[in-house]
Amino acid sequence: MPRIEAVDFFYVSMPKVEDIGDGSQDACVVRVALGSQLGWGECEAAPLPTIAALVCPMSHSACHPVIESVLGATIATPDDIRALGDRVRARSLDLLQAEHALSGIDMALWDALGRATGEPAWALLGYRKSWPKLPYASVLFGDTASDTLAKAKAIRKKGFRAAKFGWGPFGAGTVKQDVDQLHAAREGLGRDGVLLVDAGTVWVEDLKAGLKRLKALAEVKATWLEEPFVSGALDEYKALAKRSKVRLAGGEGAHNFHMARHMIDHAGIGYVQIDAGRIGGISVAKRVADYAKKKGVTYVNHTFTSHLALSASLQPFAGLKDHVICEYPLEAKPVALAITRDRILPDTGGMVAAPDAPGLGLTIDPKALKPYLLDVEIKVGGKALYRTPRL
Ligand SMILES: [Mg+2]
Repeated sequence: MPRIEAVDFFYVSMPKVEDIGDGSQDACVVRVALGSQLGWGECEAAPLPTIAALVCPMSHSACHPVIESVLGATIATPDDIRALGDRVRARSLDLLQAEHALSGIDMALWDALGRATGEPAWALLGYRKSWPKLPYASVLFGDTASDTLAKAKAIRKKGFRAAKFGWGPFGAGTVKQDVDQLHAAREGLGRDGVLLVDAGTVWVEDLKAGLKRLKALAEVKATWLEEPFVSGALDEYKALAKRSKVRLAGGEGAHNFHMARHMIDHAGIGYVQIDAGRIGGISVAKRVADYAKKKGVTYVNHTFTSHLALSASLQPFAGLKDHVICEYPLEAKPVALAITRDRILPDTGGMVAAPDAPGLGLTIDPKALKPYLLDVEIKVGGKALYRTPRL
C-alpha cells in the first residue's frame, strides 16, 4: 500500500511583487511522494504562511501542523484522499491557513494517484469524459477605458470569444468611469462576445454602490457580475441579485465546502466560482460541483495562476457537460508559466478541456522554476522546522 513518503513546499516568486490584483506573481508549489510516484499541486495562497501552516509547532489539540496528519498516510483510493482531508481539517481546525496548505497537497495526491493508476484525475472522480469548456480570457481592467478597449480588441484577435475584466480601477471611482469601462470592454469584444465583469469585492457590503452599476451592466449585456461584495455578505448579494437582470457570480473566497454551499443557498448567485487551490483541493471542489449541479447553479473554476492550477481546477467539473464557461489565465507572470512544461491550449474550435492523461496531465519543469525559487528557513527555538527542499 503506497504511503505518503514526503511533502515538500516550494516558495517561488517574481523578483518584484507589485501591488496589483494579480495572484500569479508568486506561488506555493507542492510536491508529494506517494510511494515512488511524485505528484504536484499548487496552493492559491501567500506562500510563507502556507509553509508555516505545514510545519508550525502544535499550538493545541485542534492546531496541529498539517504535515503531522499527512506524512506516512496510506493512499490507495480516492476515498483515502478524501479521508485525509477530513483528518487535516479536524486536527488543524483552528489553523486557518491549513485549508490552503491542504489544497495543494490534495491536488498533488490526485495527480500522484492518477499517474500510479494511469487514470486522469477526472476519471478517478467518477466522470466518463472531460467535456470541452469555453475559456474566457481573464484580465484586469485597463487603467482607463481606452486601455480596456485595446485589451478587449487584443483578446478578440487572439481568438477568444469570451473575456472577463476585473479589479483595477473598476468600482473604486465614479459611476460614469465604470460605465465608460463597461462600454469599452463591450465595444472591444464585439456584440457577440461573452462579457464577464469582476468587481473584485470592491464594494465590500455597500449595496447602494452595486445598485448604481446595474443599469450599465445590463446595457452591455454582461453575462455575470462577479464578487460585488466580500464572500459571505449573503444579505447584500441576495438583495442585489433580486434587482439585477445580470446574474451574480461568486465563491472564489470560499475556503471550505460550507462557505460555498452558503453562497449557493443564500446569495442568489447564478454561478459559483471555486478555486481548488483554496477550498481544500480537488476533493472539496468536486463536492461543491455536485451540490451546485443539484441546486441549478452553474459551476465555474477560479484560476488566475498556472496551468497546473488550471488543470486542477478543471477536474472537479470536467464531466459536467452543461457547465461550459471556464476561467483561463491570460496574463500569468513568467513564474506561473515556468511551473509546467506544457500548457492547456484552446483547440481549433477555441475550447479547452482537462487533459486526457494520467493525473493532472501536465509535466512539471523544475529547471525552469529554479530561478524563481526563494531560499527560506523557518527556525523556532534554534531548531530549523523548514528549509527550502531540493527542487
Ligand atoms: Mg474574481
